[in-house]
Order: sequence, then C-alpha cells, then structure tokens
Amino acid sequence: MPRGDKTKEPAFRMWREGKSLEEIQEKIREQSETQAGSVKGWIRDWERGAQGTWTPRLKKSKASQEISLNQQDCKVGGLGPYAAQVEATLADLGVDLHAQRNVELDLEDRPNKTPRAFCVAIEIPERVILVIKPQGGPDDWRALFHEAGHTEHFAHTSPSLTMEEKRLGDNAVTEGWAMLLEHLTIDPAWLERRLDFARPHEFAAEGATQLLWLVRRYCAKLLYEIEYHAVPDVTVMRPRYVELLSGALKVTPSDTDYLGDIDDGFYASQYLRAWAFESQLRAFLREKFGSAWFTRKDAGSLIRELWTEGQKPTADEILEDVTGARIDLGAVAERIREALAAG
Ligand SMILES: [Zn+2]
Repeated sequence: MPRGDKTKEPAFRMWREGKSLEEIQEKIREQSETQAGSVKGWIRDWERGAQGTWTPRLKKSKASQEISLNQQDCKVGGLGPYAAQVEATLADLGVDLHAQRNVELDLEDRPNKTPRAFCVAIEIPERVILVIKPQGGPDDWRALFHEAGHTEHFAHTSPSLTMEEKRLGDNAVTEGWAMLLEHLTIDPAWLERRLDFARPHEFAAEGATQLLWLVRRYCAKLLYEIEYHAVPDVTVMRPRYVELLSGALKVTPSDTDYLGDIDDGFYASQYLRAWAFESQLRAFLREKFGSAWFTRKDAGSLIRELWTEGQKPTADEILEDVTGARIDLGAVAERIREALAAG
C-alpha cells in the first residue's frame, strides 16, 4: 500500500497519534454515558429480553410482523420481493438496477448458502455481487439495504482510480454508504412511502434501540481492544472483557470470547466513524432536500457523484467537503434520541 494511503487509515492514525488514545477512550466513555442516561428505560426493557445472550431477542412489535407480511405479499418478477424495494428506492435516487450490467443480485434460497448477507466486489466497478439468503423478518431488510449500499458504492466507483483507492483506504466510507441505505429501513418517511406501514415511528424506535445496542457494543469493543493491545500479558484481559462489555450492554457476555471478539486494525473504530458519518450526512440530506430526500433526484446525483470517488478520500474528508462538519460521534446519539422520542 502506498505510504500516502496508509497514513489515511484510521487505525494507523490512532496509533501514530499515540498520546491521544486516552483522549479517544475518554471521549468514547463520555458519549457512552450520555447515551446511557438518555435511554435508560429502553436499556432496562431491552435487558429483560436480552439477558444472557449475545443477540438480544427484541420483543417483536406489531410493526415488525406487518413488515414480514408485506414481504410475502409482494410479488415482483425475477428480482424477488426484497429487491423490489431496493430497486424502487434506487430508482428514486436515479439508479436503474435493471440496467446495471455490473451488478448481480443473488437472492435465491439454496440449501448450503451462508445465512450471512454480503457484497463481493470481484472487479471494481465491473462486477459486484450482492448475496443474501432471506431469513424472514425485518433483519433481512436491514441486511439487504446495507449490502446494497456497499454494492452501489463499488458499482459506481470510477474505473480510473487505482486499486488502492478502490479497495483500501478508509473503510468507514463504504460502511457509511451501507448504513445510509440500511437506515432507510428504520426511517419513518421511507417506511411510509415504500410500505403500507401503520406505525412507522414505533418500528423506527425499535430500530434505533438496535442501533444503540450496536454502537454501545462497538464503543466497548474499541475501549477493550485499546487496552488489550497495551498489556504485556493478555490473559489478564479475560475478566476485563466481561467488565467492559457488560458495562456497556447490560448483558453479560461469555469470557470465552475475550480473544475471539477482536477485529483486525481497530475495525471497530471504522464502524463507529461510519455511524457518525452516516448520521451527519443524513442530517445534511434532510436539511437540504427535505425528510423525503431519498426521493429527490438531486440528492441522488450528489450521492452517485460521491460514490464515484471510491475510497480515495476518507470519511472525514467527504463529510467536511459536503457539509463543512467534522465527524462527531455525538450525531449518532442525537439520531437515536430523536427516533426514541418519536416512537
Ligand atoms: Zn458493511
């Protein structure tokens, strides 16, 4: 990787600015406390349903059941019921999914297919494949739209960029685009437009709770990983893992995960920055194009233009260029608070 690109890596930058690790930790702790204070009741409810498991089983609201019914009722030719919503949403943004020869959707349910949705960019932008095995329920929507965000980002990336600019760089960029589409599925304005949805705010609040859980988990993971890489003997981190994760999640994880639940290169920081990038970009789009920004062709033009840049600029650079703001994790807490208040 060329030196110029490596210095843009958030993890590299975190280490290069070694003295600021504690500041980062402190900042995350602060954010974490703010979020915890504002959503205490929700966490308590969640805890009741989630205690003792890594994947909290949220009590499904009626709205969740309705979204499943809508999926089954929806019949659209070759693309399948899920893709119909992606197709319509992308069409509003000026993307003709049918006409995209470089995009393939693998939506069929084969016996040995992995249940985890993913996007594989075989050639950028010449061949990008979105793979999903529908499991049923709203998680499919979230996964499909998330992967569609990655897919369209790679499919729109300019062929003239270098390999490093297409595939390396700051992964908060592609994760941010994935989240921008994913979070449409918990946006009341989108739910009202795309689905016959009786209580979109209730469903959006449930989605915000899930987002909160994920953000808190990744804050705790990053704090843990920073400490983990600093100790001479990692076995002391076994109880610390449980302490940090259960403190953030109010769910006690198994200490057997203390070595396995670590991502390479502080990838957790890229998710956190992607959530912030997405929250701030969405706020900008709403302000500039209205709450139904996703139906506006001019919003679509802006997004498609940014997609062409691949991962050449960092998420910070894109955000600053478009909105003039710097990445701020507080925007995520703000977004969650807004959704919970409306639900
Ligand atoms: Zn992703």
